[in-house]
Parts: sequence; C-alpha cells; structure tokens
Amino acid sequence: MMEDSDTVDWKTQLRSLVQTSNDIIRNVDKAILIKGDVKLHRQKICDSCEFYIQKQDKCKKCGCIMKVKTKLYSARCPVGKW
Ligand code: SF4
Repeated sequence: MMEDSDTVDWKTQLRSLVQTSNDIIRNVDKAILIKGDVKLHRQKICDSCEFYIQKQDKCKKCGCIMKVKTKLYSARCPVGKW
C-alpha cells in the first residue's frame, strides 16, 4: 500500500486529542487562550518545522490543526520545540 507522507494516521490524531484535552483540563484554572504574540511565536516555529504540513495547516507528529493548537495555553509541541 502506498503511504501519503502528508497524512497523519487516526491513532496519532486521537492520542493527541486526548493528550491536549487532558492538558486543558489540568490547567482549567488558568487562561485557556494565550496572547497573540505567543501564538505568533509558536506559529513561526511551526512554519519552519520539518513536520509542518503547510497546505493542511497540520502537524505531522500530532495531527493537530496549528491555527487552533498554537492558541491554546496548555498545548505543547510533541517534539518540544515550544
Ligand atoms: S507542533 Fe512542533 S512538531 Fe508540530 S509542526 Fe509545530 S513545531 Fe513542528
């Protein structure tokens, strides 16, 4: 079977969704959304990352949509870049 390098398998996406949900719940007492400059800083890192799928605005490592994930206070880069 041919593998499309610009896809993220459903198990990875589900695992990431659960992880991010847990992170949000753990930090529910803090602000959920971050300030614009932090979001821009994160997005800039993603833009130059080898795992970023630009045409889908998606991370190949976690399957998350970066437009959303970079705004979330408790979200983390799966490889520790931010
Ligand atoms: S979240 Fe991390 S691994 Fe994913 S695209 Fe951004 S910098 Fe790369």
